[in-house]
Amino acid sequence: MRPISARIVEIVQETPTVRSLRFDRSLGPVPGQYLMVWVRGIDEVPMSFSYRDGITVQLVGEATRAIFDLEVGGSLGLRGPLGNGFTLSGERILLVGGGVGAAPLALLGEAAAEAGIEVTTLLASRCCDDLLFLKRFERIGEVVITTDDGSLGICGRASAGLSALQLQEFDQIYLCGPEPMMADVIGRCAGMETKIQASIDRYFKCGMGICGSCSLDPSGIRVCVEGPVFRADRLAGTEFGRYRRGASGIKLLRDG
Ligand SMILES: Cc1cc2nc3c(=O)[nH]c(=O)nc-3n(C[C@H](O)[C@H](O)[C@H](O)COP(=O)(O)OP(=O)(O)OC[C@H]3O[C@@H](n4cnc5c(N)ncnc54)[C@H](O)[C@@H]3O)c2cc1C
Repeated sequence: MRPISARIVEIVQETPTVRSLRFDRSLGPVPGQYLMVWVRGIDEVPMSFSYRDGITVQLVGEATRAIFDLEVGGSLGLRGPLGNGFTLSGERILLVGGGVGAAPLALLGEAAAEAGIEVTTLLASRCCDDLLFLKRFERIGEVVITTDDGSLGICGRASAGLSALQLQEFDQIYLCGPEPMMADVIGRCAGMETKIQASIDRYFKCGMGICGSCSLDPSGIRVCVEGPVFRADRLAGTEFGRYRRGASGIKLLRDG
């Protein structure tokens, strides 16, 4: 699949380090699918769809810096939609989003609300300034907030917010955020693994299942094509929550 060129028609500063970009075209994604974003002359990096025609980017390094340097009217090469996306089912669902991980969940929650599904969101961030898409989530249902520093909502990490919820009431739970957060939430939902879908990230080079960079030990499941969304029971016994591999393939141990 060759990248198509898309023009940026809107840029929104969502938090001090996160920006959304809307394009002049939609690639028609299922919520949870991603695209490879070609930043000309720099790199091609994976991003989830946060809108049918847009992405939401956290500034971390060279490629994301170059995306932040773009203005309305600038362009990027887009390759997608790629991967499997979330499967929407049930009558009541819980979204658990940490940091920029809330991006694909906002699109999922809106699709769920449109389909008449009752949506509750547990939104976690380091501090209140970093909460992503709070208004979008409030428009579609109840929101429980946690902040690490206690500046808004419950003081603590995402898992601290689980005690404010009756987990058994939800038909499906959808997770996206830092891997330690998702592993903790899955650990606290023991027995519910078949009802949990988690979007996980690994180092993607090709996005086509060829290079093997994103394969999960020990099964070799390729996150870029078989994922990035997995039912939690499929992640049990894998490297998930323990380590991941960086650009060179070297193991990077879980950081917290
Ligand atoms: C399926 C998926 C969906 C993602 N969705 C989003 C999103 O919606 N918004 C967002 O801000 N970020 C998202 N990311 C992460 C994003 O791809 C990286 O933050 C980005 O590539 C960083 O590039 P950089 O050159 O700015 O940083 P660098 O300085 O090159 O790297 C910083 C860190 O970013 C990660 N990273 C860098 N390159 C890649 C790559 N090719 N594949 C995977 N991780 C990489 C690594 O953890 C690395 O340590 C997603 C990642 C995946 C795998």
